[in-house]
Amino acid sequence: MENKEIKEQICVLLDQRLAGVPERKACVVTYGCQMNACDSEKLAAVLRELGFVLTEEARAADLVIFNTCCVRDHAEKRVYGNVGALRKIKEASGGRMIIGVCGCMMQQKGVAEHIRTRYPFVDMVFGTHNLHEFASILLAALESERTFVDVREKEDGCVHEMPAERKSLSTAYVTIMQGCNNFCTYCVVPYVRGRERSRETERVLDEIRGVAATGCREIMLLGQNVNSYGKDLGGGVNFAALLRQADRIKGIERIRFMTSHPKDLSDELLETMAAGRHICRQLHLPVQSGSDRILKKMNRGYTRADYLTIIEKARRLMPEAGLSTDIIVGFPGETEDDFAATESLLAEVRYTNAFLFKYSPRRGTPAAAMPDQIPEEVKQERHARVMALQNAVTAEVNARLIGRELPVLAESVSKKNDRMLSGRTDSGILVNFSADGVEPGTIVPVRITGATVSALRGERV
Ligand code: SAH
Ligand code: SF4
Repeated sequence: MENKEIKEQICVLLDQRLAGVPERKACVVTYGCQMNACDSEKLAAVLRELGFVLTEEARAADLVIFNTCCVRDHAEKRVYGNVGALRKIKEASGGRMIIGVCGCMMQQKGVAEHIRTRYPFVDMVFGTHNLHEFASILLAALESERTFVDVREKEDGCVHEMPAERKSLSTAYVTIMQGCNNFCTYCVVPYVRGRERSRETERVLDEIRGVAATGCREIMLLGQNVNSYGKDLGGGVNFAALLRQADRIKGIERIRFMTSHPKDLSDELLETMAAGRHICRQLHLPVQSGSDRILKKMNRGYTRADYLTIIEKARRLMPEAGLSTDIIVGFPGETEDDFAATESLLAEVRYTNAFLFKYSPRRGTPAAAMPDQIPEEVKQERHARVMALQNAVTAEVNARLIGRELPVLAESVSKKNDRMLSGRTDSGILVNFSADGVEPGTIVPVRITGATVSALRGERV
């Protein structure tokens, strides 16, 4: 935290509010994408500096922050439910518990006001553009009798430049840009995250060097549309050039990135990936639909044929690449023929993984006002159909790796079995493997012995 005075003032107020609490616990609950996870790590770093011990359990914490997502309705509903569930716990603590709600949902019109009036036990509400002022916001909230609300229209200062309390020892998120200019007609992101702002290359590289110095071996470069990195910086900076520079940083063994927009993906990027020493052969390339008619209504800026040309080039340059995608089913006006085009695209590309979503109307976006909204049952049924199709493909793609020996970066002890480690192949597939004495953060050769739709199984060679 840069401002010592603010820190001291917060500590005095916390001493009063949490008097008698032997160990102050804080919990940051994250919804949504990696960008939010990355922002939560920045909040966690501030809380750590204030003397909090971080916990995963909101109910047991003295301070809870909900970092929200509004990309789909489902995430929003969960937020309201989970914030509401703390009311009784806060009352039981004599009002001592400190509750904050922040993130993308707060940037939407009327949401902050809704929280303030319907959830008055919330102490502070802030948005995505002033995350870097979290300490001052917390101070104001501690001083205020009512919910303190600070949601800005625009960023001033730089959210990127905050230290992070990284959750994973093996993979570090590094934000390279914020915002999005694409305005896909279904998507709320440009409204809540603002226009594209790239971070200066040197700053990004400095952060990566810092990560390498901590012993962390893998970085994930983050942006809503990494392929347009640098357009706003001038001087011929682009994403491929950034990757090449990152690739030269000593100590970093694996570089991943997301998300790539097909419309801005260059041959130079694919060539850079193929030639890179530490750039993983993994490409998450959301297609959204296989139907040209729907792609046009979505304002995606490419056709099915354009997309398949990129896939073909990527496979030619990197035959073993892990390709994944996002799909939306039930976009307004989607006919059975349009849906069949999406199914045939999935069958043709054979992704290692696909994230499949039912279209969720977002207030204020053009698609929410389009005619021919698809009934929930139809969305549900189409979702189940693509899910079955993709699961079968993923299972087959994974099964083909049985018998192979692949380098795996050990990330953590497996969730299901503490004698196993979990990690990923270069192409991004999850592997659970037995490996006595292997420390998370090291890359080891693993022989693949089994495969399911969700992961590979293996043994250290
Ligand atoms: N910037 C990234 C992803 C942003 S949101 C990109 O453009 O690829 C992540 C995914 O959520 C999107 O790829 C899309 O598939 C899905 N999504 C976004 N808005 C949605 C909506 N209104 N309903 C359903 N899914 C949506
Ligand atoms: Fe949303 Fe489209 Fe921007 Fe992705 S590219 S964040 S889907 S508007």
